[in-house]
Amino acid sequence: MTSSILHNNPKLTLEDINAPVRWCCVDCGKNTAPGCPTRQQIFDAYQTGQKRLDAVLDTNSEVYTVRPAIWKKARMEPFGGCLCIGCLEKRLGRQLKPKDFDQYHLLNGLPGTPLLIQRRGKGSMGDWRLLDLTALAAT
Ligand SMILES: [Zn+2]
Repeated sequence: MTSSILHNNPKLTLEDINAPVRWCCVDCGKNTAPGCPTRQQIFDAYQTGQKRLDAVLDTNSEVYTVRPAIWKKARMEPFGGCLCIGCLEKRLGRQLKPKDFDQYHLLNGLPGTPLLIQRRGKGSMGDWRLLDLTALAAT
């Protein structure tokens, strides 16, 4: 389980939150982050003065980012929704390779499904303890 500490930001708008509207794959409907709050849920937590918001990232999660060229080849717009690994590979017509992922991006160090971990070529499964939602808010 991971927890997030919500910082007070009275000027925050829904559009400021850099989290998906829905975590479900736009092609097959699979929830790619069953334990993670959506943009609206994060916003609502801010609005209601909630001090903490729990998120779970585990072996059921497929939270990642690929290089912009890969996302574009899959006919996806930036922030155009989520794709599970299987559907992303179907769109690309090939298996993902480690070089398709930005190895230095925060999201690519998260726990994930065995398929995601295998495609990334590496993965940290245990060091992720705190998800700071302010890092997800656009500056
Ligand atoms: Zn899918």
